[in-house]
This record gives sequence, structure tokens and C-alpha cells, in this order.
Amino acid sequence: MSIEINSAWDLLKSQIESCRKCDLCETRTNVVIGEGPTENCKCVIIGEAPGEDEDLSGHPFVGRAGQLLTKILENGGGIKRDSLYVTNAVKCRPPGNKDPNTGQLTACSDFLEAQLLLLQPSVIVTLGNISTKWLLKTSAGITSIRGQWQKWRKIDLLPMFHPSYLLRQTGDAERKAKQLTWNDVKSLKAKLDELNNKE
Ligand code: SF4
Repeated sequence: MSIEINSAWDLLKSQIESCRKCDLCETRTNVVIGEGPTENCKCVIIGEAPGEDEDLSGHPFVGRAGQLLTKILENGGGIKRDSLYVTNAVKCRPPGNKDPNTGQLTACSDFLEAQLLLLQPSVIVTLGNISTKWLLKTSAGITSIRGQWQKWRKIDLLPMFHPSYLLRQTGDAERKAKQLTWNDVKSLKAKLDELNNKE
């Protein structure tokens, strides 16, 4: 990685770590910036906000939902989670695991945009309603839009269910949501394979 890109990452990390642009700075334990390869990163996964486990550890998607995400990627698509960059739309935990509000999303959006600018992924995956609606500026709910490839500034974007949603489902609803997610992760794998074959 070039010295300039390294310095840009260092600067961005220090800006996020010391950020007080929204009220979430008052209640966070740790800022959760994101993790994954910062060089030749094909795919970025964007969730909603850190939960309790993430807030305590400072790492993204380490709780039950994160473990399910790893399983979905690896068992469903043969995609190693550590080959992807994983982050959230906001970098600090909303108390009580509330959805981040528009003010918080707006305050944090420069950081997400800077991450995407530095990573230059070929593919983005948004998990759940919050990050999908925020990036695509759509009112379409995740149930209707998931699995359909979209574009975010010329980058292919695939909305998928958030793993927390899958954990909340039971019975037939759970089976159906898992089957749809299974289909989506296969679609993601096919897209990543297509990109690899073009290189
Ligand atoms: S959520 Fe984002 S904007 Fe708000 S304090 Fe944390 S880093 Fe700053």
C-alpha cells in the first residue's frame, strides 16, 4: 500500500476514534471502525450499528449476529469472512440497540464514504433496512429489495437480510428467511467469482 493511502487510513482512524459529532459519543465504550483487508478489497459489508459485544470489544460483528454472518458467508458461499471488509453505517453503539436515527447516520456518513473511497471495493453488501435505505436513498424495505443487485455510484450493491433479523425469526419464517439468504450469498459468490475471472 502506498504511503499516502496508509497515512489517509491513519488519519481517518484517529478522526473516527476521537469523534464527537453526534450524541452516541456520550454512551459508547469503544468506537467500532471496521475490519478487513484495506488493500485489494473486493467487497465491503455494511451493517447498521455496533451492538453490545461490538461496543465492548471495539470489533465489528463479533456477537451472535456476527457469528451467524461468518457462517452464512463461509458455509453458504464459501466466502472467507476475513477476505471482506466489515463495518457499519454508524461507528458507535446506539443505547438499547435502537436503530441509528437520521442525525446520527448523517453525522457518521463522511466516515463511511471515506472508508469506501479508500477501499474502492467492486461490491458492497448492505445488511438490513438501515444501511440499505441510507446508501440507496430508497424507501423500499429490505424484504422487497433483498437479493436484487443495485448500484451505488457505479459499484454493484447487494442488499441482504441482517443476521440479527434471521436470529429473531422462528418456524416457517425462519426457514424462508434463511433460504432467501442462502440464495443471496450464492449470488454474491457468483459476482465475486466473475470479478476474479476478469482479472
Ligand atoms: S456514531 Fe459516528 S458521528 Fe457519531 S460519535 Fe460515533 S463516530 Fe462520531
